Amino acid sequence: MEHRGDPSQPPHPADILTGNYEEWKNSAVEKEVIIIGGGISGLTAAKTLIENNITNILLLEADIRIGGRVRTYRQGNLSVEEGAEWIHGGERNPLYRLAKQLQAVVPSLPDDVWDERVVTNNGRRSDPLKYEVVEELMEEADTNGILEPYYHTGYGQFYLDRFPEAYGKGWDSTLGQAWLHLLEKTVNAEEGTNNWLDMSARDADQYVAKGQDHHWRNGFGTVVEYLQESIPDDVIRLSSPVCQIFWDQDDGGGGGGGSKVLLVTNNGRASYSAGRVVVAISVGHLKERHQDLFRPPLPVSLVKDLNSIELGVADKIQIGWEEPWWGSKDPLSVAILWTDRNLPKDMEWLYGIVEISSVTQHPNVLLTFVTGEEAKVMESLPKDSVKRHLMRLLATITGLQVPEPILFTRSQWGRNPWTRGSYSSYITVEGDRSGLHKRQKLGMPLTNSSGKTVVFWAGEHIHNTRYGTVDGAMEVGEQQARRLIRKMKESGDQTYSKSTRVVNGIK
Ligand SMILES: Cc1cc2nc3c(=O)[nH]c(=O)nc-3n(C[C@H](O)[C@H](O)[C@H](O)COP(=O)(O)OP(=O)(O)OC[C@H]3O[C@@H](n4cnc5c(N)ncnc54)[C@H](O)[C@@H]3O)c2cc1C
Repeated sequence: MEHRGDPSQPPHPADILTGNYEEWKNSAVEKEVIIIGGGISGLTAAKTLIENNITNILLLEADIRIGGRVRTYRQGNLSVEEGAEWIHGGERNPLYRLAKQLQAVVPSLPDDVWDERVVTNNGRRSDPLKYEVVEELMEEADTNGILEPYYHTGYGQFYLDRFPEAYGKGWDSTLGQAWLHLLEKTVNAEEGTNNWLDMSARDADQYVAKGQDHHWRNGFGTVVEYLQESIPDDVIRLSSPVCQIFWDQDDGGGGGGGSKVLLVTNNGRASYSAGRVVVAISVGHLKERHQDLFRPPLPVSLVKDLNSIELGVADKIQIGWEEPWWGSKDPLSVAILWTDRNLPKDMEWLYGIVEISSVTQHPNVLLTFVTGEEAKVMESLPKDSVKRHLMRLLATITGLQVPEPILFTRSQWGRNPWTRGSYSSYITVEGDRSGLHKRQKLGMPLTNSSGKTVVFWAGEHIHNTRYGTVDGAMEVGEQQARRLIRKMKESGDQTYSKSTRVVNGIK
């Protein structure tokens, strides 16, 4: 919500609407099904519909590109991921199996090739053995079921309770607390949480890990290209932000419950209608904009459930050179212990950085994550300041002069109006207390006042055990498209596309 009315942001299409309902209705382009959002979930839904011979469809994407939170940045021979990076898991992950089929899998670098360092923020080397404490606690937390005693508290509480014993003597010293800070920020980066105490431990416990991470040979964009191959070009309409969804309009008789959903895009300049709609937009945008988007408003119970979920802000900063300059030829991995808090005010966001590592495919490119409040501050700074701050940190922790980089990128997923966050939509502690325990509830379709199921939901946030992942987004996209197809079959919608006049009240 904080971005609404932000003068540095362009106004949202719903804020400057022109036209009216009758005009939009009369000029609407008619389709059988419309998908809103061309991220992985929306694209998979489109592919599934087409494979099931539902071809009179359209996908409306707000941005000038498809892929959503999958975004590969290319510069010459270099490519880095501004969004999704790893295929989380091996054979048990269908995305891994797809990548294997496409001969596109690259394993992560083995443990023994890294130049691993643990340093204080002043550049003093520190005992790397304590890193095992961090790894062991995070591994323990990954064991499904272990968090049960914490179900009514924040995920971070598990770590706070375990840390003193796991670290041992000195856990409350300056150095011990710097390790705890490193643990907290590492967990936030892994989970995508703004604050580890915000995420419900029950939700964290439901995530199912599927093994080692892998990479895409030619970037994560490969999966977008793969999905796009099954979708005819004229099905995808870019730069078409949907700003209103009339989901319970009438067919002329008044009182709602009509057979079609009317969609308005581009500040009211275009309109579409469809028998059914799949909403596959990021939960960050949905939370921020549902009041403007839906006419009539969403049911109160759904709004309550949406308010129970948060999309954390986690950003990536990547900086690269022709040659390594850090004193070894090996890929670098530095853990940073903030034992001194002596940064000038404008650089304080750097406290959020606790690890900087080489990117698997390009070891001369270093990647770091920043999450939560620090990420929001970083996003608000000019790109050059972020670069300068990071270079200063690199110089201090290595004790070396940092050459001018040839590549610098930083993501701004929080400021992006179409995402408003990064990964791991998480159920908050409050959300858990108010009754949202399983995310698939958020995938329950909307039925209009004559009982027709008209709005279906997709997106990573609906997956109970693989939320915050690309494979989760794909699975939900396919599941929800199949659900829609079932509904169409039950209600005889199959004849729908053959007639432009539709009988009211079809279920
Ligand atoms: C920094 C980062 C790192 C990540 N790392 C990994 C990783 O390593 N491995 C992994 O598996 N996953 C990772 N993820 C998560 C993964 O990228 C997402 O879970 C997945 O891409 C979400 O897909 P989606 O289709 O659900 O949503 P999105 O990708 O958000 O797609 C939604 C689409 O809807 C569009 N849209 C929004 N509003 C409107 C509107 N009003 N009208 C029309 N269109 C609209 C958006 O522009 C977007 O294209 C990462 C994400 C980020 C940001």
